[in-house]
Amino acid sequence: MSYLPTLTKMRDYFSSGATRPIEFRKQQIRLLKDCLLEHEQAINEALYQDLHKSPEEVWVSETGLVLAECKLALKKLDQWTRPERVRTNLANIPSSSHIMPEPLGVVLIVAPWNYPLELLLGPLVGALAAGNCVVLKPSEFTPATAALMKKIIERVFDERYVWLIEGDGASVVPSLMGSFRFDHLFYTGSTAVGKIVYRMAAEQLTPVTLELGGKSPCVIESDANIEVAAKRIALAKWNNAGQTCIAPDYILVHQSVRERFIEALQRVIEMFYTNNPARCDHYGRIINTRQFDRLVSYLSSGNIVCGGQHDRDHCYISPTVLTDVSLDAPIMQEEIFGPLLPILSYQHFEEAKAIIDRHANPLSFYVYTESRQKEKKWLEQVPAGGACVNNSVFHFLNHRLPFGGRGNSGFGMYHGKHSFNTFSHFKSVLRTPSWIDPAIKYPPFKGKLGLLKKLIG
Ligand code: NAD
Repeated sequence: MSYLPTLTKMRDYFSSGATRPIEFRKQQIRLLKDCLLEHEQAINEALYQDLHKSPEEVWVSETGLVLAECKLALKKLDQWTRPERVRTNLANIPSSSHIMPEPLGVVLIVAPWNYPLELLLGPLVGALAAGNCVVLKPSEFTPATAALMKKIIERVFDERYVWLIEGDGASVVPSLMGSFRFDHLFYTGSTAVGKIVYRMAAEQLTPVTLELGGKSPCVIESDANIEVAAKRIALAKWNNAGQTCIAPDYILVHQSVRERFIEALQRVIEMFYTNNPARCDHYGRIINTRQFDRLVSYLSSGNIVCGGQHDRDHCYISPTVLTDVSLDAPIMQEEIFGPLLPILSYQHFEEAKAIIDRHANPLSFYVYTESRQKEKKWLEQVPAGGACVNNSVFHFLNHRLPFGGRGNSGFGMYHGKHSFNTFSHFKSVLRTPSWIDPAIKYPPFKGKLGLLKKLIG
């Protein structure tokens, strides 16, 4: 299928200026918000079908987050789009200077399957707020949610403005990017595919935001509040059955509190998911048998302290804690992205740091400690996309904190105003009056060096 005719219409629509007026942008975001609210029940059903998510989980990590982005954009758009006046340097006086945000053009947003609604429509809000036309590519592995989003998008938007294309990423995305120069690619997914799309974008000189994955470490210091740490880590790890890019991937617990932490974690798992999580309404399922098989193969990497039950027919793996895991085992080489949690212990800072350094620049880093000094040391010593102290994952929910990775976990950032910035170009403008035109800046320059030195440098 050729995507070019519709993409060309989108380019023309953007060039017509139709998407620029602030009132138009607000009206479109309002329509999206209303349609999402109208489809709340259908969204819950689709996400239950695809990932066994409960309505509460869908609200907190999918629909509610997109609606919050809509509300924020509607409230702040006038402020975000206002040109920012900046001071003018001596040599340019009496000019004035300002920075004006302008839309990028036609942008492409590619999303993964783990939070299929939020990771596609969250960035969409930023792209619309910034005045762009948008092509959306959801994951093929959440077909119920993708079909529903297609219905919503087609109902709300003109196809020349927002266009959602379903299908296999490995064929759809190269066809899209090979035939058309997008003005930005916003990609969320694995590091391996991130490298492929980055190469395709380079061919067209398309700027990119890459929101990738990796192994996010979680350190528990000897002085941590163990009961609280266990609860916060369990919530972050086993929500969506561990299929969260910023879930704690593995634990590094200080040797002195190792036993206490493992016991607390076991208690919390039972408290959150009962002694039979397979029958628990709010415990998720693995996305497909391919991922299921990969995760089950990790079970032999260590000693199973709790969990380990699995059922291939229902893509179910219980919350699982592993100890005595070798650093060379595949589970410690690859991003786990599932409900298995290896617990390693350490005696000294350097020992734990060396383990973290095996996978530099994680998407997130978590440290549990009551000491400001230790917190400072860890935050300074572990470069990461984002971090929490005495918490995990929840930094994602604060739209004032830019969200994104560094190095292997990606680059660029979004959420709230940061999404608007990502999908905008900031044009620098110098306005110079013509009623005055000093001769100093024109040749001949002989004899002016002293004055030029005062003005510049
Ligand atoms: P994926 O890379 O397999 O797929 C992501 C998207 O890319 C999908 O839409 C898919 O259709 C498309 N795609 C697949 N192959 C392609 C190809 N060859 N060329 C172009 N596009 C292609 O990722 P996934 O399995 O859907 O998601 C899991 C990964 O995403 C994990 O690594 C996780 O850490 C990461 N992730 C990151 C974030 C973040 O915010 N940084 C959020 C969620 C997930």
